[in-house]
Amino acid sequence: MKLQSFEDMNPERIFALLPDITEKDKDLLRRACEFAKKAHEGSFRKSGEPYYTHVFATGYNLATLRMDPDTIAAGIMHDVLEDTQVTEEEMQKEFDKRIVTLVQGVTKLGKLRYSGVERHVESLRKFFIAMADDIRVVVIKLCDRLHNIQTLEFVSPEKQKRIALETLEIHARLADRLGMGRLKAQLEDAAFPYVYPNEYNKTLEFFDSMAPISEKQIEKVVATLDEELTTFDVEIERIDHRVKHLYSLWQKLKRYKMDTSKVHDVVALRIIVPTVSDCYQALGVIHGMYRPVPGRFKDYIAVPKPNGYRSLHTTIFSGDGNTLEIQIRTKEMHREAEYGIASHLAYKELGKHVSKEEIKKKTGWTKELLEWQKDVEHHEEFMKNLKSDFFEKRVFVLTPKGDVIDLPEGSTPIDFAYSVHSDIGDHTAGAKVNGKLVPLDTILQNRDVVEIDIKENASPKRKWIDMVRTTFAKRHIRNYIKEHGSTLEKLLTR
Ligand code: MN
Repeated sequence: MKLQSFEDMNPERIFALLPDITEKDKDLLRRACEFAKKAHEGSFRKSGEPYYTHVFATGYNLATLRMDPDTIAAGIMHDVLEDTQVTEEEMQKEFDKRIVTLVQGVTKLGKLRYSGVERHVESLRKFFIAMADDIRVVVIKLCDRLHNIQTLEFVSPEKQKRIALETLEIHARLADRLGMGRLKAQLEDAAFPYVYPNEYNKTLEFFDSMAPISEKQIEKVVATLDEELTTFDVEIERIDHRVKHLYSLWQKLKRYKMDTSKVHDVVALRIIVPTVSDCYQALGVIHGMYRPVPGRFKDYIAVPKPNGYRSLHTTIFSGDGNTLEIQIRTKEMHREAEYGIASHLAYKELGKHVSKEEIKKKTGWTKELLEWQKDVEHHEEFMKNLKSDFFEKRVFVLTPKGDVIDLPEGSTPIDFAYSVHSDIGDHTAGAKVNGKLVPLDTILQNRDVVEIDIKENASPKRKWIDMVRTTFAKRHIRNYIKEHGSTLEKLLTR
């Protein structure tokens, strides 16, 4: 269901998506809506709609994934800290720390801007990995992006292209890596016309010309299959037509060099059955009736895709000179294929109080993110980073501009200053972490935003050597003292 107007922005719309929601959680979501509505009062989207429509839609998208109430509440308030006068303290007065932490996570993630430069892609990838300590932050960000990309018509043309390209290259790939098939398709189809307008039009034209033929062909096959599967006593939950999403259809056309005569199946068939053994039984019946296209059968149940996807795929000759793709899976596999990681974070499975450890156990994110590197270009570099980031403990902190600085665990603001620039290190006078003044020996935590106060006359102190963790900073401090320090200090540091 699409949300049409401001009147639709009623929390009841979200409750309707969550059949098991408790009164207490309803109350939480109502309060989140009120809080966000008030905070964004007086600001508007490019479309002219109240800004609140955007944050409500983000929460709504999260509810369609059936995320837990904390995550939906954080989604509704995801832009409050970044875009309004409301402070963390004020939010903390009204909401649990768990929710505020999620909002902070999204706020920090939002500070990163992709500018087509590879360096940024790398830091974004790293950032996503850092964010994996609570994958829900990434899911909120993807739902936020989905609404932004679906309302892109109101943005200037060059911004449209940049945002759409970024969506294809980063958000859709991430959704795919997390096994969120539906979200991936939605992101891709919304971005497609802005990035490749000509190809989009060609694909759409092709689809429109093929769809009626495919529909007829499918109806015939479905009727025959239904009868035959019943005869063989194969239990079926349902048979769906699945219209291929346009972006994936274009990918297919591209593989055939845009030769439209080579691509027949714009609609696919999906058979949902109760158990795994029903999957194979159904496959047996189908292959007994229709000749399979050689080389197109794939058993993703025995060998799942790296992102966890399971299903049987086959393509058959449907008897009229056309081919038809069929997917066979259980209900559970279907839910996982559509929602991926979100299906493990769902309200019903985890309930309200979700600990990070539970999520890590449930999602196995490490494995998935490790798989992700297989897809990226320059993967030697990525692999190197990934290895050190995973196998040596690292923290990821941010500059106020949103650049990611990774440091070994136990690092302090001085390490941070030196890794930004040695000049900054040499003139560090003080530091702020997350906006608050802190002592220079403060241990930095994942996702901290660190700001260094620089003074012309400030210089490294000898005691800093014991306060830093990185060899890089240690070396610089020693060198500085050697060159500028007193004779006594020179003796002491020798
Ligand atoms: Mn937003």
